[in-house]
Amino acid sequence: RSMVFFTITTFVLWWLLRSHPTRFKPIGWTYECLSLWESTSALMYVPADELRVLWFFTNLPCVFILLGQRAGWFITAVTMAGFVGINGSLDKPYSANAVATGVLALLYLGFAFNAYVDRSLSYFKRMRDYNMALEDLASHDPLTGILNARAYYRACDQLIHASQRSNQPFAVLFVDLDHFKSINDRYGHAVGDEVLRAVATTMEANVRRSDVVGRIGGEEFSVYLPNTSVAGAERLAEGLRQAIEALCPHIDGHTLNITASIGVAAKTFEHQTMQVIQQLADTAMYKAKKAGRNRVSTFGVVND
Ligand code: GH3
Ligand code: MG
Ligand code: MG
Repeated sequence: RSMVFFTITTFVLWWLLRSHPTRFKPIGWTYECLSLWESTSALMYVPADELRVLWFFTNLPCVFILLGQRAGWFITAVTMAGFVGINGSLDKPYSANAVATGVLALLYLGFAFNAYVDRSLSYFKRMRDYNMALEDLASHDPLTGILNARAYYRACDQLIHASQRSNQPFAVLFVDLDHFKSINDRYGHAVGDEVLRAVATTMEANVRRSDVVGRIGGEEFSVYLPNTSVAGAERLAEGLRQAIEALCPHIDGHTLNITASIGVAAKTFEHQTMQVIQQLADTAMYKAKKAGRNRVSTFGVVND
């Protein structure tokens, strides 16, 4: 009867485990206690079954794999002590030789599954680290370390969805360095690279923690400003422009004057996508270029 009950309960618990993975530990421990109860009752009340001690052995691998190494060793110790302690009071006790064999076999199983779980865990940790490194490589620009275009737009799309739900404003800045080609032509590509790194660092230092900065082209950056009005975005853009102008990096013995033209676009209608607003910021940036560079222009505002 207990075998029927135990088997049905096992299926129910496994089903619960599959549909509620967050309740893994309590369900696992309930299953484990039932297993021990079933095996112990078999040991005490079914003396005709000589091989009933095997139930204790089938139980251990699951404990190591599902509940971890500490739980595995704990149950191994409890099983060994219980088996030795109960054996004397059984109707048909096992011989001392059989008990010693059982205890050694349990110990052997414990060490084997401890090693197995160790290996599995180190393999999973390595895979997780590789995945994190790959994720990092795939989403960051190798030169400046900031988000690349793909990751930047993905982050913006998510933030835009969130802002639409809460009906909050947002704005985008398009930052394009002025006459950058001439820096490469005059000082070389390596110096140009250093400038890009310095500008990216300055930009990250001059935006708020909630803002997102991405390198979307060679010398083009974009900044997403959540929960920001046009006036707030213009203020931030002007601060950024000044910080880039004040940067004057010293590279390879040269002091360089770097400036940027910045286009500002803010959300103007409810379901505005990143693609649309980026286009508006781009248009505003070209307006700043036309007006003489090293300045901030806002889409839809006649400010020059
Ligand atoms: P404008 O003021 O009109 O923006 O002029 P510009 O010279 O900045 O514009 P243009 O788009 O003509 O040139 C951009 C240059 O940026 C061309 C390219 O050589 C340089 N560039 C793009 N990517 C990199 C890079 O990764 N490293 C370096 N050093 N230069 C780059
Ligand atoms: Mg450009
Ligand atoms: Mg440029």
